[in-house]
Amino acid sequence: MGIPDEDVARVRAETDIVSLIGEHAALKRVGQRWQGLCPFHGEKTPSFSVNAEEGFYYCFGCLAKGDAISFVRAMEHLDFVDAVRRLADRAGITIREDAASGRDSQRRKVFLDAMERATEWYHQRLLTSPDAMFGDRDSVSWKEVGQVPLCLLTPDMQNRRIIDALLRSAGQEPSPTLESNSMIVLYSHVRTGRWASVMPARLAATLGLTDVLRAIPIVEPEASHAIGLVVPARQPMKPLTAALVIEARRAAQLLAD
Ligand SMILES: [Zn+2]
Repeated sequence: MGIPDEDVARVRAETDIVSLIGEHAALKRVGQRWQGLCPFHGEKTPSFSVNAEEGFYYCFGCLAKGDAISFVRAMEHLDFVDAVRRLADRAGITIREDAASGRDSQRRKVFLDAMERATEWYHQRLLTSPDAMFGDRDSVSWKEVGQVPLCLLTPDMQNRRIIDALLRSAGQEPSPTLESNSMIVLYSHVRTGRWASVMPARLAATLGLTDVLRAIPIVEPEASHAIGLVVPARQPMKPLTAALVIEARRAAQLLAD
C-alpha cells in the first residue's frame, strides 16, 4: 500500500458520496437515505440506497455495497490506489505516497526515468572550450549559438536536422564554417578554441567530451518534443501492438497525474 491510512481516511471523509454516485445514478432523498436505480444492475424500481452520513451504498437487488472508494473502483475499473488518487483529485486533497511501494508509483518512476534519459538526447548543449566565446556562461540562447563559429554534423544527419530547426526557430540561419560526419573530428576542432559545436547532453557526456570542454545548456527556446506511438490502423491489432498501445495509454495517464 502506497498511501498512508490517515490520508485514505481523509479522502473518504472529504468525499460527498451522494454527489459522487449522483454522477452515475439519479438519487432522491427518502428519509435519512438517498435512493435510486442501481448503477450496477438493470432495474425498473429503485433498490439502490446511499447513506450519506456513514458514506456507504447498498443495493438490495444485486447486493453491491461499499464506500466511495469501492464505488470508483467498480465504476472506473481502477485499483485501490488509483481510486484513492481519483477521489483525492476530485476533493482537492494532496495525498502522500510512498514512492518506494505501490505498483503504479513504481511504474511511474520507471517511466519518468526513461523520459529523463530520452530528454537528455534532446537537450542540446553548446560544446565549447572554456576560453572561447561564451565559454564562461552558465547557459546560452539559440540566438547566441547562431552567432559563434560552429562546426556541425553534415545536413543529412538527424541530429543536425534537429539543431537546424532549433536555430531557425530562434531566427538564425544555420551556417557552420565546418561540417563533418564524425563527432571525433568535431571534437578536435572544438578543442582548438576556434569553433563550438552543438550536441545532446547525453552524447557529450558519453563521449567524455565534457571532461575537457564545457558543455553549456542551451535555453530559449527550451526545446521540447511531443512523443507518440504510431501504429497501423487495422483491427484486430497484432498482440504486440495491442500491448504497446495499452502500455502507452497507461504511461500517458501515469505521467499526466
Ligand atoms: Zn444493484
